[in-house]
Amino acid sequence: MTTQELVASGLQLPVMEAFYTIQGEGRFTGTPAYFIRLGGCDVGCVWCDVKESWEAGKWPILAIEEIVEEAVKYPGRLVVITGGEPLMYDLDPLTRLLKENGFTTNIETSGAHPFSGDFDWVCFSPKKFKKPHPSIYSEADELKVVIFHQSDFKFAEEHAALVNKSCELRLQPEWSKAEKFTSEIINYVKNHPTWNISLQTHKFMDIP
Ligand code: SF4
Repeated sequence: MTTQELVASGLQLPVMEAFYTIQGEGRFTGTPAYFIRLGGCDVGCVWCDVKESWEAGKWPILAIEEIVEEAVKYPGRLVVITGGEPLMYDLDPLTRLLKENGFTTNIETSGAHPFSGDFDWVCFSPKKFKKPHPSIYSEADELKVVIFHQSDFKFAEEHAALVNKSCELRLQPEWSKAEKFTSEIINYVKNHPTWNISLQTHKFMDIP
């Protein structure tokens, strides 16, 4: 198979970076986790803090065996697949191999591409810049909406109406707008208690 075919089948993937750290956001905040950041994103968020991830061709293409071989070197057995937009790729082979090696698998995705992979926890963070694919709504365990603009509260509710009832709902201030929106988010959550707050605690801790 050519490299292109191997990537299309999810047996090789462009990896921007992979690192062992503490999950800073959402349900698993504070948990040690191995992050695999795949290269490539076509969503185009204006406030994206990993714009260098957008161009997939910039990053080394690794076989999934090599990716997992690195992950097992660390003691934690939680892996978070992120990007970029990781669902640009077929994640079935990588997640299968991670699970065979004892990992709990999490994903952080905008849901802009068809769902794939065997995940224990799906954090769905929809973006206004590219409509989510319908396959994400039934898979989401957590809906995490970044608040960058006033209209994002309405956007959050529109998506909350589409996910499963058991899906956990979180609002997260965009880092540069935290000062402007944090008190508003606090008030919103107090008045709409189906939601809770996610903070980018890794930024407070100054870790990746
Ligand atoms: S989906 Fe994520 S990686 Fe892609 S542009 Fe938005 S914030 Fe950046």
